[in-house]
Amino acid sequence: MRKTYQIHCEYDGVKVSLTGSPRVKGYCHCEDCRDLLNVPFHSVTAWNKEQIKIVEGEALLSEHQHPEPEMKRIFCSNCGETLYNTNAMDWRVVSQLLLRKCNDGVLPDELHSDSHFFYARRIIDINDTLPKHD
Ligand SMILES: [Zn+2]
Ligand SMILES: [Zn+2]
Repeated sequence: MRKTYQIHCEYDGVKVSLTGSPRVKGYCHCEDCRDLLNVPFHSVTAWNKEQIKIVEGEALLSEHQHPEPEMKRIFCSNCGETLYNTNAMDWRVVSQLLLRKCNDGVLPDELHSDSHFFYARRIIDINDTLPKHD
């Protein structure tokens, strides 16, 4: 059975569903993610655009276009919460933190990171046992 996950913005105005399994789940250390979101690395689940559906509040969504042409941050214009961002492959990248917050504070087991990406570009070292890809 295909699983469905729900995410929403802080004040519940925008609701988004994610169906199936993410293409990728991991920690991204690339400079674009850092720059787009002001984080040292990004804990991501990445989905095909067909897997994601705006269930409620589509009119509230705004886009921030990153200087890198393919990357956009999609956020709620009411409360400012980022729902997801897009990348050069046109994937929909949803933060594991948001998934955790919207799932009663628990990230579903199957969405946990299984590796690090662009590790060579990191700004902090991570001392864990996950495989690290450059
Ligand atoms: Zn990245
Ligand atoms: Zn909102």
